[in-house]
Amino acid sequence: SDEADWELSELIGEEEAAATEKLPVVAIVGRPNVGKSTLVNRIIGRREAVVEDVPGVTRDRVSYPASWIGRRFMVTDTGGWEPDAKGLQQSISAQAEFAMRTADLIVLVVDATVGATSTDEAVARTLRRAKTPVLLAANKVDSERAEADAAVLWSLGLGEPHMISASHGRGTADLLDTILEALPETPRERYVAGGPRRVALVGKPNVGKSSLLNRLAGEERSVVDNVAGTTVDPVDEVIELDGEPWQFVDTAGLRRKVRTATGHEYYASLRTRAALESAELALLLIDASETISEQDLRVLSMIIDSGRALVVVFNKWDLVDEDRRYDLDKEIDRELARVPWARRINISAETGRSVTKLVPAMEQALDSWDRRVPTGRLNNWLKEVIAATPPPVRGGRQPRVMFATQAATRPPTFVLFTTGFLEAGYRRFIERRLREEFGFDGSPVRVNVRVRD
Ligand code: GDP
Ligand code: GDP
Repeated sequence: SDEADWELSELIGEEEAAATEKLPVVAIVGRPNVGKSTLVNRIIGRREAVVEDVPGVTRDRVSYPASWIGRRFMVTDTGGWEPDAKGLQQSISAQAEFAMRTADLIVLVVDATVGATSTDEAVARTLRRAKTPVLLAANKVDSERAEADAAVLWSLGLGEPHMISASHGRGTADLLDTILEALPETPRERYVAGGPRRVALVGKPNVGKSSLLNRLAGEERSVVDNVAGTTVDPVDEVIELDGEPWQFVDTAGLRRKVRTATGHEYYASLRTRAALESAELALLLIDASETISEQDLRVLSMIIDSGRALVVVFNKWDLVDEDRRYDLDKEIDRELARVPWARRINISAETGRSVTKLVPAMEQALDSWDRRVPTGRLNNWLKEVIAATPPPVRGGRQPRVMFATQAATRPPTFVLFTTGFLEAGYRRFIERRLREEFGFDGSPVRVNVRVRD
């Protein structure tokens, strides 16, 4: 076989491999300053802080690969946002909801030197409803003497408080053993093979997400409650479009608007992340009548990070006149340059204009996302491309590309085996040519390089 005999993690990097292999996810939740980041660092075996602590800034990266006695899993730290006193409760319940929706096991961290605060009690109440296993970690139990304090945490109703000191490492090995015991063998089913394709309708507030949802559900007059043989999450909605069922994820979140201003952004961003996590395709809604904003671009970044297929939908087209259209074109050139591969559709959820164009674009994007190029064909093609345009010489050496393979789909991920480093510019060139040859419209394409000596 011409497939290289490498571990997937060696081919595409540990993090992408973890995402591709669908490792079980352990979520760490809790109030600020209880020691979540310290525990995450302890679990992933890193001494330095996961990120610098910048108050008020939402971390972009929250998932880290980890392993314990040979078992691999992902750790998710949903903290990283310092809410004010008023927003604290809401922010922690958003964390808990996010964890309940995306994780396979949840660890609630409590500061044993403080005891159970009312916020701890509120989040424990939420977590007691979780179908996901929940473990309680009583942190900052730095010595045997401190253990007595931790015993009161039984009152949280989450079972035994596992006494640890994240900063000293005390008890963390036992906690990890318990995590592995309670962690399901296989991660929760995020996709049902042969089930409806899963779509996340995302965009900043007021772009028209619920209007579009209503339009799609109403137009077809066939909201399916349950599709035989699949389990539809109660927060999702299956809508039949052009004769095929599509699962719109977390529509409950769309229909139930969050009114409180405090923490709204944070809550919305967690929900977007959770929706992307369980979807295969993102429909990014942008209000065409307004200037493309920072908030739009933040959602776009989350989509790019998620590796999902993408269709960009410009809504409220009924409000767009000649002048606005001219400005919008310029904004698109400037702001959407990162996703030249995404189809753009102009619609009006209000009037129904062009809504029927969505499904063909969604199908095409998912087709690209799933596509696999056979290794033989890939290498024959690549040989010609490289002969015509060899990689630039670096440090007096001409890197050679010896072999390529598509290591993963969803999204398509290619690995080039080379004798030297390939510059980002050349990797982008290869990506462009891959797209020209094999057509990945609507899907991200990743090109990774493995240097072999
Ligand atoms: P997070 O906001 O929940 O992520 O908390 P951090 O991990 O940033 O920790 C908050 C503070 O608690 C830091 O000053 C840590 O050094 C400290 N801390 C974390 N774990 C322990 C522990 O086990 N014992 C003690 N004494 N301090 C800890
Ligand atoms: P969401 O917050 O993204 O779910 O946005 P909504 O669906 O609640 O819409 C926000 C506002 O925009 C509402 O007042 C809608 O009536 C309006 N709206 C939504 N779609 C359109 C559209 O295509 N054209 C116009 N003119 N207004 C729209």
